[in-house]
Amino acid sequence: MLSAVIFDVDGVLVDSPHEQAWREALAGFADPAGFTTAFYQAHVAGKPRLEGARATLERLGNAEVAAHAAAFAERKQAVIDRLIAEDRFVAFPDAIRLAVALRDTGLRIVLASSSKNADAMLARVILPDRRTLRSLFDADVSGRDVPRGKPDPALFQLAAKAVNVPPSRCLVVEDAPAGIRAAQAGGMASLGIARLGDEALLRAAGADLVVTSLDQLDVAALGSGSLRTRSVEAAHEP
Ligand SMILES: [Mg+2]
Repeated sequence: MLSAVIFDVDGVLVDSPHEQAWREALAGFADPAGFTTAFYQAHVAGKPRLEGARATLERLGNAEVAAHAAAFAERKQAVIDRLIAEDRFVAFPDAIRLAVALRDTGLRIVLASSSKNADAMLARVILPDRRTLRSLFDADVSGRDVPRGKPDPALFQLAAKAVNVPPSRCLVVEDAPAGIRAAQAGGMASLGIARLGDEALLRAAGADLVVTSLDQLDVAALGSGSLRTRSVEAAHEP
């Protein structure tokens, strides 16, 4: 049985400007040309800010990581604050449809982004019925301070607790390998959403199911604990 679905935010619910913010902030610390989308997905996505800053500087050859990481992380935050205020992001329509459908089936839905910026973004997304995307969710542990970031399961464990559901009855929806590994480490099922052609990375991380659009998920089957894609016929229904 499945009782709750835990959503990562960046790359799952919103096409957020984190990657762009990191790249803009890099000037003067390392060569931004090395900060590709593949680099971001593999080494930065899903990690807390300072960890992401350290990983980036280490891998891009900055010689004084310890001295520069905090300043780099701070500059990245200033850039993303500006990008969010300018509404330089979009919510993924398939993710909104999934959140609405899950609510209708009676499953609890929880937000669990490592980022402290998740709320600011979700509160700016207005649905056709004038609710905010943020208001659909039963609980939100985004940006909570945990001892370690993903792939440690601490944040997802907090999310499960927030709706009083044991980990074995939770499904995590993630776009980053670190998040998939965090779900596994926490004893939760995981659904990988591969929006960037990175199915293989998510499978290698151990995702129980990988889709390229959240519309492929069989929501009706989820309630009885079955994680699978919809049949081809059903997927073609309007
Ligand atoms: Mg993500």
